[in-house]
Amino acid sequence: MSAKVIDCVAIADEIKVELIKEIKDLGSKGVTVGVATVLVGEDFGARMYRNQIEKFCGEMGVEYTNADPPADTSEDDVVKIVSDLNENKNVSGIIPLRPFPEHISDYAIINTIALNKDIDCFHPYNMGKLTLGEITFAPATPSACIEILDRENVELEGAEVVVVGHSNIVGKPISNLCINRNATTSTTHVFTSMAGNLEKHTSGADILIVAAGKAGLITSDLVKEGAFVIDVGINRVKLTYENGNPVLNDKGKPKSKTVGDVDFDSVKEKAGKITTVPGGVGAITNMMLMRNAVKAAKIQGGLV
Ligand code: NAD
Repeated sequence: MSAKVIDCVAIADEIKVELIKEIKDLGSKGVTVGVATVLVGEDFGARMYRNQIEKFCGEMGVEYTNADPPADTSEDDVVKIVSDLNENKNVSGIIPLRPFPEHISDYAIINTIALNKDIDCFHPYNMGKLTLGEITFAPATPSACIEILDRENVELEGAEVVVVGHSNIVGKPISNLCINRNATTSTTHVFTSMAGNLEKHTSGADILIVAAGKAGLITSDLVKEGAFVIDVGINRVKLTYENGNPVLNDKGKPKSKTVGDVDFDSVKEKAGKITTVPGGVGAITNMMLMRNAVKAAKIQGGLV
């Protein structure tokens, strides 16, 4: 039997409609929802993400503030920019867009963000609260995974969850959110694979959440029949013909496409429910960020 493919774009659209209404209501009470991004230099991926955030803000009636000083700006000056955004009444949430240039430490910037404007939960204090289950803001991508499960009415309490990936910004917070919901949660990572133990864990998962950044890592033999498989990974892979030759574009350059960490075609024949890449977790991630910006505006407006 083929898995139900979760329409994450439709879920994201639903959340967007809900949030637009809430943002309008808050506006009528004099509460501004505003997002600022801090991008230092010209990193291509970070700039694309910035553009996306600006677009969402425009579509949803959220004030957008762009701070993008040049790559040679000193750390002190970037800290000053963030401190000014902390004081700015039109900014309810601040998103630092990494990577920063080498002379700027992530911690210097992240530790400067006001705790109640830290809408992607980068600050160690907010991350600590998440671990304690006293969440102010949960980070966007991990929240998107939980949102998918909630919208599909999945009971996390007592469920066997396996997370593949243990990064501070994706894998660990996903595991913590699942533990907070009383799921039996295992966190696996590259050393699990190196020890030859990945299948031992993943094959027992009712819910398998994969965030490794490794195309094709999860094949159907690693998945339990009927499992709910959420693919967080985003990888660019070159397109090839059956004989292994690269597919070329009009300019003679190799064509590539975006895939996740899950071998979708084989796993969808065994899983019960599955997300796609693209059109999966990423679509909902953006809305989780906007939801946190709304929550931040409410906190700052004394409404929660
Ligand atoms: P990361 O490189 O910081 O961490 C990767 C994790 O995967 C590590 O814990 C590592 O131990 C584990 N891993 C690597 N190879 C493995 C293997 N062979 N077996 C088991 N575990 C393995 O990456 P990240 O920032 O956590 O991101 C993970 C993926 O999620 C990336 O593809 C990234 O692009 C994607 N991502 C997607 C979204 C989204 O909104 N959809 C957001 C953030 C990140």
